[in-house]
Amino acid sequence: MSSPQPGTVLVTGASGFVAGHCIEELLRHGYAVRGTVRDPERAEKVAHLTAQAADLGGRLDFVAARLDTDEGWAEAVDGCTFVLHVASPNPPSVPRTEDEIVQPAVEGTLRVLRASAASDTVQRVVLTSSSLAVNAGRAEPEAGRHTEDDWSLIENCSPYEKSKTLAERAAWNFYHDLPDKSRLDLVTILPALVLGPLQRAEVNTSNAVVQRLLDRSMPAVPDLGFSLVDVRDIATAHRLAMESPQAPGNRYLCGGTYTSMLDMARVLAAEFGPAGFRVPTRRLPYWAMWLAARFDPALRLALGYVGRPERLSSQKAIDELGWTARPAARTLRETGQSLRDHHIVHARR
Ligand code: NAP
Repeated sequence: MSSPQPGTVLVTGASGFVAGHCIEELLRHGYAVRGTVRDPERAEKVAHLTAQAADLGGRLDFVAARLDTDEGWAEAVDGCTFVLHVASPNPPSVPRTEDEIVQPAVEGTLRVLRASAASDTVQRVVLTSSSLAVNAGRAEPEAGRHTEDDWSLIENCSPYEKSKTLAERAAWNFYHDLPDKSRLDLVTILPALVLGPLQRAEVNTSNAVVQRLLDRSMPAVPDLGFSLVDVRDIATAHRLAMESPQAPGNRYLCGGTYTSMLDMARVLAAEFGPAGFRVPTRRLPYWAMWLAARFDPALRLALGYVGRPERLSSQKAIDELGWTARPAARTLRETGQSLRDHHIVHARR
C-alpha cells in the first residue's frame, strides 16, 4: 500500500458497478483513489480500473477489507480524507436468510464509520444508501412524492430493503452519537434503480433488468416501473456530496424519470429491434408473473413492486448539490449498447 496523497478518497467495494463508476469520476476530477476489494486474489475484477487510472495518469491502489470483519479497515482509511462507502450485498434473488445480507450491510457500515472516526485524517463519509430506505413497504403519498423526510417501514421490507434501511439508520445513529461532531461528517446518497454502461463484462442486479428484455428471457413485460437513474450521474452525486459544504448531515434522493418497464421495452425495441433483438412489448398479466415467479427467483423479488408506481423527489439534490440526471431513454440505449459491446446479449436473426 503506497502512502496516500492529501485528498485521497477511499471507495469501498471497488469491484462493484456503482463503485467502479465512482472511481472513474474521482480519477477524472484529479483525486487519488484507494479501493477496497474483499478478495485480492480476484484482481481481474478491478483490472479495468487500473488500466483506466494509467490512461488518465491518476493514482489508484487497492487494499483488502471485508464487511464482515474488522481486519483491514484501519489500514484502509489511513491517510484518506474522504470515504465513499458503496459496498453492500446487492444479490439478484431473495437470500436464504435475511442475515446473509442485513448483517454485512449494517455491521460493514459501522466498521467503516468506526475506522473513519478513529482515523486522524478522514473528514467525511458518503454512504450509498438506496431509495428503498425511503419508500419500501409504504403506500405511495396521496399527493406529491416521497422525500428524504420519509423512512421505509421495516416490518414490510424484503431482506434487501431491510439491509439498506437498517444500514442507513445505523449510520445516522452512529453520527448523532459522536461526542465530537467536528471530527467527521456524514452524507447519504439514495439512488433509485441504477442503470448504465458496464465497465467490465459482468452484469449486476439492476442492469439485469435491461439484459432480460434484450435477451428475451422475459417473454412479456411485468407491470413494474422505476425512477431509473444513470450510474454516471450517481457517481457525480457521490462526488458532489463529498465536496459540497452544504451536504454534511443530509440525505439526498437521486432518481431520474419514472419509466414503466413497458416504456423501457419500447425504447429498447426501437433502438435494437432493427439489429435483430426481439424485445418483448406485451404486458405480462399478474397471474402469469405470479406463476413464473415460482421458478424464477428474480421475478419473485419483483412481485412486491407490481402495480406500485414509484414517486420520488430528487429536488433536494438538484437544489443543494447542483445535481442533474440525464434522460432515461439515453441511459437505456447506452446500457443496451454496452451489453452488446461486452457480448452479454446477442441479436437473434
Ligand atoms: P454490485 O455491483 O453487486 O457491487 C456490490 C459491491 O459490494 C461489490 O464490490 C461486492 O464485492 C461488495 N460486497 C458485497 N458484499 C460484501 C462483503 N461481505 N464484503 C466486502 N464487499 C462486499 O452492486 P451495485 O449495484 O454496484 O451496488 C453498489 C451499492 O449501491 C450498494 O450499496 C447498493 O445497495 C447501492 N444501490 C444500488 C442500486 C442499483 O440499482 N444498482 C440502487 C440503489 C442503491 P464482490 O465483487 O467481491 O462481490
